[in-house]
Amino acid sequence: TVLYIPLITCNALEGMAFTLGERLQLGIHGLLPPCFVSQDVQLLRVLKNYDMKKDDLDRYVFLMGLQDRNEKLFYRVIMSNVERFMPIIYTPTVGLACQLYGHIFRRPRGLFITIHDRGHIAAILKNWPEINVRVVCVTDGERILGLGDLGCHGMGIPVGKLALYTACGGVPPQQCLPVTLDVGTDNEALLKDPLYIGLRHKRVRGQAYDDLLDEFMNAVSDRYGMDCLIQFEDFANINAFRMLNKYRNKFCTFNDDIQGTAAVAVAGLLAALRITKTKMCDHTIVFQGAGEAAMGIAELVTMAMEKEGLPKEEGLKKIWMVDSKGLIVKVIHTHTVFFCNFVYICCCFVCFWSHFVCLLWDVVRELKPTVIIGVAAVSRAFTEQIIRDMASFNERPIIFALSNPTSKAECTAEQCYTLTEGRAIFASGSPFDPVTLPDGRTFYPGQGNNSYIFPGVGLGVIACGLQNITEEVFLTAAEALANLVTDKDLAEGRLFPPLSSIRNTSLKLAAKVRIMEFAFEHNVASLRSEPSDKEAHVRSLAYSTDYDEFVVDSYRWPEDCMTVQ
Ligand code: NAP
Ligand code: MN
Repeated sequence: TVLYIPLITCNALEGMAFTLGERLQLGIHGLLPPCFVSQDVQLLRVLKNYDMKKDDLDRYVFLMGLQDRNEKLFYRVIMSNVERFMPIIYTPTVGLACQLYGHIFRRPRGLFITIHDRGHIAAILKNWPEINVRVVCVTDGERILGLGDLGCHGMGIPVGKLALYTACGGVPPQQCLPVTLDVGTDNEALLKDPLYIGLRHKRVRGQAYDDLLDEFMNAVSDRYGMDCLIQFEDFANINAFRMLNKYRNKFCTFNDDIQGTAAVAVAGLLAALRITKTKMCDHTIVFQGAGEAAMGIAELVTMAMEKEGLPKEEGLKKIWMVDSKGLIVKVIHTHTVFFCNFVYICCCFVCFWSHFVCLLWDVVRELKPTVIIGVAAVSRAFTEQIIRDMASFNERPIIFALSNPTSKAECTAEQCYTLTEGRAIFASGSPFDPVTLPDGRTFYPGQGNNSYIFPGVGLGVIACGLQNITEEVFLTAAEALANLVTDKDLAEGRLFPPLSSIRNTSLKLAAKVRIMEFAFEHNVASLRSEPSDKEAHVRSLAYSTDYDEFVVDSYRWPEDCMTVQ
C-alpha cells in the first residue's frame, strides 16, 4: 500500500505531464517514464488509442476509463471534438451502455440511493466527497431514452448528461452530482441477470416512492442549498408530470424530458419558420406520442403562439396527438394535472370517444398538418407514405423524428430528404450523417436534442442563483437558440447551430440568452449584485482543462527571522 498511493497519483491526474519538480515533491519520481509530455501529446495518444477501438461500446468504455483516470484529459478530449464524441458519451451509445451497464461495469460513478435508504438520505449525501455541488441530475431508471425500464443501469444517463454540463456548459465536474434512485425494476431480464447492479425486486410505488422523493429533494437542498439545481431525467411519465408539478415552485428543478425537449423542439420550429417565412400560429402540428416530450413541446408551442397573439384555446386546436390507442380526441388527458387546459376537440371526425382508433397515416391524410413530430419511441413510424403525403401538401414539410436512440427514430434523414426531394425541414433526436441527393445537393440534418438546452439553461440558472425555473425560461432559451442559427446554417438544412460551437452556444444561452437577463428583469435571481457583463461572468465560472500547479508552495522569510536561536 505504501507504493500504491503514489502509483494512483501518477496514473491519475496528470500522468506523464507531471514536471520533474512535481514528481520529486509528490514522491512519485521514478514511477513514471522519464519523459515529460504536454497535454497536447496526451491528447494525441488518447486519440490514437481511440482509433483502435472496434466498436462504439468499446469507445464508451475507453472514454469512461479515461474519465476515472484523468478527468482533465477526458474533458480535453471531448471538447476537442464534441461532434465526434457526443454520440459516444451520450445518445445513441449511452443507451447501449445502459442496457449493458452491469456487464461493462468497472468503477462506480455517482450516488446510488435506494428505496430502503429512506430516513438516511442526508447521511448518504454526506458520503459524497464534494461540498459545493451546484447541479444534481437524478433518474429512477424507468424510462431510459426510448429503451424503457433499465432500473439501476439508468445511471449511465445522469453520468452522461452531467459530462455534457461540463463539456458543453463549462460547469466544473466537481460541482455535478449524478444520482440514481433505485426503487427496483420491472425489467424481468435484468432481474434475472447475474450481472445486474441494482436491487433485485419489482419497483416500489405509491407512498413509499413519494416519500423517498420528498426526502431526496429536501436532503439535497439542505446539503447544497436551495439554489442547487435538480434536473429530473428519464422518469416514466406517470411520475415525471406529478413530480414536476409538485416540486417546481418549491425547489430549483426542471424536468429535461418535458421542458428541455420542449425548448429544443420549439427552437427547431422557430428556426424552421425562418425558412417557411410563416408564423407559429400558421401551423398545424401532429404528434406521434402524447407523453412527456409531446406534452412539453405542445405547451411551449402554444405559449409561442400566444406571444404571436393567438389565444391559448385557439392554439390548442392546432395541435393533435396520436398515442398507442389512436388519435386523442375530446379528452382531458391523464396528464392534465400538469397541463390542465389540454382538451382536444375533434372537428374532422365524428367521434365521441377519448380515442379515435386510426393510424398516424389516416390522421396525417385527414388533417394535412404542416408539422409532424415523432416522440413515441416507435421505430420507423414515419412511413414512406406519410413522408410522401407530407411532401404532397406542403412545399416545405417540417418533419422532426425526435425519438432516441437512433434505432427508435421515426425515419432516417436519408428517407426524409429523399422522399421529399430535399424539401423537408428535418431534425432528429440522435445524430444522422449528412445526406447527399442524386442531384448533388447535400443536407445537414439538425440534431434536435436537448443537449442544446440543458447545459446552457443549467449554467445560466446556477450562475445567477435562479431558484424558480418557469416555462418562460425555456421559451426564452428556445428563442435564443433559434437566433443563434445563421442563414448559412439554414441554407444547409441545419436548424441548430453546429455542434462544434456548442460550448459557445451554451455560454450565449446562459448569459446572453438571457436566462440571466430574464431572471434579473423578473427579479427572481438571488445573486446579490447583478454583474454588468453577464457573459464574462458566466465565462469566469467555466471549467478549464489546463492542469493545476502541483509544486508545493515554497518561500522564505527574512534571513534574520529564520536564524536558529
Ligand atoms: P413517454 O412519456 O413515455 O411517452 C411516450 C408516448 O408514446 C406515450 O404517449 C405513448 O402512448 C406513445 N406511444 C407508445 N406507443 C405508441 C404507438 N405505437 N403509437 C403511437 N404512440 C405510441 O416518453 P417521452 O418522454 O415522451 O419520450 C418519448 C421518446 O422521445 C423517447 O424515445 C425519447 O428518447 C424521445 N425524446 C427525445 C428527446 C430529444 O431531445 N430529442 C427528448 C426527450 C425524449 P401510450 O400512453 O398510449 O402508450
Ligand atoms: Mn431524457
